[in-house]
Amino acid sequence: MIKTFSAAWVLPMDGQLIENGEVVTEDGIIVDIRPIATPSKDRTHLSNAVILPGLINAHTHLEYTALRGFLEDVSFFTWIRTLNRTKAHFTAEDWVVSAKLGALECLASGITTIGDNTDSGASMDATLWAGLRGRIYQEFFNIDHRTPVEGTAQDLFEKLSALSARRGSRMEVGISPHATYTIRPEMFEAIHRDRRFDGVPISIHVAESPAEVQMTTEGAGPFAEMFERRGIVWTPPRVSPTRYVYDQGAMGDKTLLIHCVHQDESDIALAASSCSAIIHCPKSNAKLGAGIAPLDQWLKTSDLKLGIGTDSAVSNNSIDLFEEMRFALLLQRGRVESVDNVKAVDVLQMATSGGAAAMGMDADVGTLTPGKKADLIAVDLSALHMAPATDPQSALIYSGRASDVRLTVIGGEVCYHDGIFMLVDSDEVLTEAARLKKKISMVGNS
Ligand SMILES: [Zn+2]
Repeated sequence: MIKTFSAAWVLPMDGQLIENGEVVTEDGIIVDIRPIATPSKDRTHLSNAVILPGLINAHTHLEYTALRGFLEDVSFFTWIRTLNRTKAHFTAEDWVVSAKLGALECLASGITTIGDNTDSGASMDATLWAGLRGRIYQEFFNIDHRTPVEGTAQDLFEKLSALSARRGSRMEVGISPHATYTIRPEMFEAIHRDRRFDGVPISIHVAESPAEVQMTTEGAGPFAEMFERRGIVWTPPRVSPTRYVYDQGAMGDKTLLIHCVHQDESDIALAASSCSAIIHCPKSNAKLGAGIAPLDQWLKTSDLKLGIGTDSAVSNNSIDLFEEMRFALLLQRGRVESVDNVKAVDVLQMATSGGAAAMGMDADVGTLTPGKKADLIAVDLSALHMAPATDPQSALIYSGRASDVRLTVIGGEVCYHDGIFMLVDSDEVLTEAARLKKKISMVGNS
């Protein structure tokens, strides 16, 4: 079936901006990008809008969306400890509602592909329901020497198999050794030598906070103190978090390194030489007081794959990549006191073609190219905060908001159009989320 989407502008991200352009799709695949040709009855015309590739949110946790606003103004260490305690009160159904809330926000924000780290597995249910594309990484944890690694590996394998069995045609699966402070070396080794995990994509939080750096380099700080209180044996490797993850064999061309706020030149070189990708989450890092990542250094490093992510709504608080791109750009310019190091196109690439390459999905998505999946969005340029939008790319980065998204198409299917979710019932999810809100406030007060 042929469907055509046209607008005042088409920004393919692998070629020139087209004025009065159209994207022709057939059976979910892009077949042509061109100036508007003869009128067709299967055309959806967006007038004063720009059509671009669907955005790629390479790091999020959809299942935490209902916890938005629950953990404000606390340090990273307190944040993660409280989050882990609160998680125990959620049922499997609660996680699915929370993840669906996040999936709806993705569709309404022009996000078509996600890299999602899940503990409960609910993100898979939500993405299948919403029709999103991407990869779900099953999280696992084992820091306590008294917890056998074999049991954790078996449990991980079973969860991964369960995710894989119901993943549908748009989703892939991977694993997420959660972080340096929740996975001990023996656990990394167990996964490394277990043939069942050969070639499975990895997503890991690394070098996020000063507390983490203190833990790996000196064996001191809040994480090390917590280990001591809980009787956990921890031998500091006395290297940076990035070097530590590298030494554990967890870096490679299928690895996403999430955050990487605290990296020096040698850490960045390790990421590049191992063909790992770095996923930048600047708002989450700033909100938790974790620091400002060296984006300008990353951009100068040849062959380093870079994507961008919102992280979860419990540390951001919006799943809005327009806000994330702008924040990344402006924050970095403020940090380096120059406009030369980071350009608008750099952050837009991170949210499209760069994010696709980071996730190993660039053959399918990330640019509007004939032969790729018909994942595209249309962003309105007529709102007051955009007008007069003379350059659509600069309007998107410097003024754009998630609420400017008019159309979200995945695999040729219109999922969201002018405020309406075309394929799912959003009211039901919002009603359930209101029920969850009461439960969360009770947990918070207990
Ligand atoms: Zn995260």
